[in-house]
Amino acid sequence: MNVPLLDLKAQFIPIKNEMMAAVENVFDSQYFILGPTVNNFEKETAEYIGAKFALGVSSGTDALIIALMALDIKPGDEIITTPYSFFATAGSIARLGAIPVFVDIDPETYNIDVSKIEEVITEKTKAIVPVHLYGQCVDIDPIITIAEKNNLFVVEDAAQAIGSKNKNRCAGTFGDFGCFSFFPSKNLGGAGDGGLVTTNDEKLYEKLVKLRNHGSHPKYYHPMIGGNFRLDALQAAVLSIKLKHLNKWHEGRRKNAGFYDSAFSASQQIVTPIILPENYSIYNQYVIRVPNRDEVFSKLKNANIGCDIYYPVPLHLQECFDYLGYKKGDLPNSENAANETIALPIYPELTDEQKQYVVDTVVKAVK
Ligand SMILES: *Cc1c(COP(=O)(O)O)cnc(C)c1O
Repeated sequence: MNVPLLDLKAQFIPIKNEMMAAVENVFDSQYFILGPTVNNFEKETAEYIGAKFALGVSSGTDALIIALMALDIKPGDEIITTPYSFFATAGSIARLGAIPVFVDIDPETYNIDVSKIEEVITEKTKAIVPVHLYGQCVDIDPIITIAEKNNLFVVEDAAQAIGSKNKNRCAGTFGDFGCFSFFPSKNLGGAGDGGLVTTNDEKLYEKLVKLRNHGSHPKYYHPMIGGNFRLDALQAAVLSIKLKHLNKWHEGRRKNAGFYDSAFSASQQIVTPIILPENYSIYNQYVIRVPNRDEVFSKLKNANIGCDIYYPVPLHLQECFDYLGYKKGDLPNSENAANETIALPIYPELTDEQKQYVVDTVVKAVK
């Protein structure tokens, strides 16, 4: 049997006609840059997420960049974040000349350990960038409290967490900004790159609108320097169609997670995802922890089961961040997670036979 990590064709086939009609509409209109298709999609996602404003942008990475630009993050500013995330979280901070300050993760949720944030706050600290990793919200309330107490901004990296909830509120509505990605492997994936920024603050939203288009307002007048951070109308058309199916896909992933959870519950060695009771996870990834990870990885590959490691090198140990001065052992929970975790196929269209095959193969490999 063959079980890919993700099968986007299985998702596409049932919605192909709907999708192609939406794409054709954009071609018929020849309105490719911003315009009504993008505006509609922004309204729909703002409503879906429960944010006052949503702005379509060119990628999840650019969502982070433009959010930090809107907060006037400057070279030398310190930004607190997690070392256990996709590179873009810290890369965006560093690209603005700011300094990523890494706080170790909670070993159970893999999200930033909130109890360790206050220790690293200095007079240079400007913001906290927590990540809702694998589709589970970080313990966000205490982060907002710490931010308010210390006058810091909060930019949520919700790239893996569209529709993920904490206490019935969606990721991306707690901080000053929520940043989302439509990279094809995310729960809501485009036909290429795309992203979104949410905010409840009208002034910040207006600033985002300018920054997305070279800081211009009105046209050809530039009160600030922005960039080309626009979402394509073709992407917005595709994403609008997919948004209608998103909750159903989340539920499919959650059902599959339930299947794995109970199938692995007898094992002493397999640690299944720990979801906080107040969270609704959208399982962008289903990540288990095993003692012999590298062996499990190669055995799954040999059995034609797609799997991956998110992430093999924590950000504080990346070569490009040598200048920050971290060394091995500084953030042990992240380092252990990088050595012991593996992501299994969780996409909604998995069949019971495929899931059972994954379970059997994993259980055998862990022994
Ligand atoms: C995917 C991702 C990003 C970047 O999104 P792109 O659309 O690929 O630029 C940022 N942060 C996290 C946590 C991600 O998973």
